[in-house]
Amino acid sequence: MSVDFLQLAVPGVRGLSPYQPGKPIDELARELGLKEEDIVKLASNENPMGPSAAVKAAMNEEMAEMTRYPDGAGFALKAELSSRLNVTPAQLTLGNGSSDILDFVVRAFVDNGDEVVVSEHAFSIYSLLTRAKGGVVVEVPALNFGHDLVAMAAAVTDKTRVVFLTNPSNPTGTWNTRAEVLTFMQTVPANVVVVLDEAYCEFVEEAEYPDGVELLAQFPNLIVARTFSKVYGLASLRVGYGVSSPELADIMNRVRPPFNVNSYALVGAVAALRDEAYLQMSVKANRDGMALLTAAFAEMGLDYIPSVGNFVAFRVPDSVTGIEVYQKLLREGVIVRPIANYGMPQYVRVSIGTDAENRTFLKALAKVLA
Ligand SMILES: *Cc1c(COP(=O)(O)O)cnc(C)c1O
Repeated sequence: MSVDFLQLAVPGVRGLSPYQPGKPIDELARELGLKEEDIVKLASNENPMGPSAAVKAAMNEEMAEMTRYPDGAGFALKAELSSRLNVTPAQLTLGNGSSDILDFVVRAFVDNGDEVVVSEHAFSIYSLLTRAKGGVVVEVPALNFGHDLVAMAAAVTDKTRVVFLTNPSNPTGTWNTRAEVLTFMQTVPANVVVVLDEAYCEFVEEAEYPDGVELLAQFPNLIVARTFSKVYGLASLRVGYGVSSPELADIMNRVRPPFNVNSYALVGAVAALRDEAYLQMSVKANRDGMALLTAAFAEMGLDYIPSVGNFVAFRVPDSVTGIEVYQKLLREGVIVRPIANYGMPQYVRVSIGTDAENRTFLKALAKVLA
């Protein structure tokens, strides 16, 4: 007898399609018969300079301990984070990437039929996780591509369990001010869990940009999610964290798999936090790269969405689609991200690379649009 395993999956999972990551460099190199060095990947918002030397040294040293389980409580990383963020270790939850934190929230708080409020064009993981649990995704129309926090607050009902905010948002690079977030938090009932996903907060230099951690004292229903995958250059290590009230952290830690963060990630993350010069350098390189790309878009007559992250979404001419431009760029050895699956078929997202990578991308873009 042949079994239809899809029918065995829970209903929420049956309708899902897997998350679409950026295309890996080695995959494109194989397809084009090119060397990996000849490929430029600007598709996943990674730090183009890689991690700091201090991180690599710390990880090398950790090699000797490979036979041991990692510290499941993450003592050293929590100590480093708590002193930097001015919170207690009991307020922290460590994740295998911050995606893990998002998963804990949904697993702990969302059941069949519960509503989860997200913004249009928001990071797709929120709805993927919600639907897998049988939750109902309530998508609120965007305002100039960004989160409309007034409309999102108004979308909260007595069925709402969780709201996901991304500040700045991905793939749009839009952001919300301190006043907007504060008003939102004051409007939303205290029994709705609000996740403030700050995966790109380190890049933001706007004076009115809020630090989510500073809001925690006022809002015990708030969870701030951050990651080492972006500015710290540790995407492959898979390490992120949640900061919240101790009560919410306790609940998330109940669903956290034991040893979810490996030893290399634990020591690498500590070393990354301590290397502030590297962080500053990465932020500056990003600012310069963003200026280069946006000036070039303007010169080419391409609209783009002003971004405070390490990526920018630009609009392709009406004669082509984002996916077509993506495919043409692939043939030039440049990997970017089409975002049709985020409801933006005329847009392409490009991560800020090194200066050389940015220039290679611009040259290829000019060629494929000619
Ligand atoms: C990259 C990203 C994350 C975190 O990814 P991890 O690698 O799992 O830490 C979370 N939210 C958004 C919006 C992101 O872009």
